[in-house]
Parts: sequence; C-alpha cells; structure tokens
Amino acid sequence: MNNQNNRGTVKVVNGRYRPEGKFHIAYPNTPIYDENNKLMGVTNPRDLTHIHSYGGEAIFFESLKDGKLLGTQCNNPDCEHTGNIAIPFKIHCPDCLGKNTVIDLTKKAYESATVHTFMITERTGAFNTLEKPIRFINIEFEGVDTILMSYMSVGEPEIGMKVVPIFKTVDPTFTILDMSWVPKGTADDQLPEGFSFSE
Ligand SMILES: [Zn+2]
Repeated sequence: MNNQNNRGTVKVVNGRYRPEGKFHIAYPNTPIYDENNKLMGVTNPRDLTHIHSYGGEAIFFESLKDGKLLGTQCNNPDCEHTGNIAIPFKIHCPDCLGKNTVIDLTKKAYESATVHTFMITERTGAFNTLEKPIRFINIEFEGVDTILMSYMSVGEPEIGMKVVPIFKTVDPTFTILDMSWVPKGTADDQLPEGFSFSE
C-alpha cells in the first residue's frame, strides 16, 4: 500500500490553491506485544503533507536563493515609529498596522551583523534536518529595530562576533534554512554544500 506516487501537490489557479493528490496517507499498522505475546497496542503509521502558505512573505523566501536578505520598513509619516526596520520580515507595521515597504538589507548584514546572543542545542524537535549540535544565533544589525534568529554553519558563536549571511543558491528549499551565518572572514571553500556568499 504505497501511495507515495500520488502525494499531494498544490497548483494556484486564479489566485486560489488547487490541491491535487493525497495529503493524508495511512500505512498498515503493526501489533505491539509484551514478552508473553499479550497484545498491548498497535502502531498507527501516518504520513501527512502540510501546506505552508507564505502570502506576503513569499518574496522573502524567494529572494534567499538569489543571495538577498529582505526586511521591511514602515514609511507611514503618521506612525509614531515611522522608519522602523524589521527583520524578521513583517508585512505590516506592528505600531500603525499600515503596510510596510520591502527593503534590501543584504549590504547592511555584511557590514554590521553581530551575534547578540546564542544557544547551542544537541536535542531537536521532530523532522529537524540540521546537523547537530545546532548553533542558533540571535543577530543584531545597525539601524534595525529587531533581532533575527538563525543558525551558524561554520565556527563557534560568541557574543559580539561579526557574522555574515550565506545563502543556499543551489537546490534551494524555499524555507528559512536557505539562510545561514558564518564568522566574518570565512573562506568560500569552508561553506556547506550549495551555499554561497551574496554576489
Ligand atoms: Zn508604522
């Protein structure tokens, strides 16, 4: 009972999602016995395809494969915090709720990104694909009002360390994992496979 060939995919027609195929697949279960062959339960293998809709954030994920780090800025002159820059990407200003302008923060990242704090973890949630231990870093940029969370692929993080972004330009996944960080000065040949510095 292998239904993988009909795994769900989604097309967009006239601005609406059109799912096709199977998004929930059940596999045959197996009995669970104790040492005396007494039935204790069953396994229930299930497989589901989750649809993650990006909406107005799509441009952020799409630009990573081009080596671009996009953020947003409030340009509403009537907003108390006009000019505020946000990365992670905020479609709307949290202060005035107006629509933010998309801006390119790639250059700013190469010039000023610094490790604000970090966390190293050996244990992860289900479906983690990153190599362990994962070096999560919180990154601050000059003139940016938020802190970005990401992960380091090379080296050991330290508070105040200058870091630069790298991008998965080969076989991108179109997820946040297409962006990673390395210490400033890291050589090209030390980058993980498929990743490169911005052009
Ligand atoms: Zn605003």
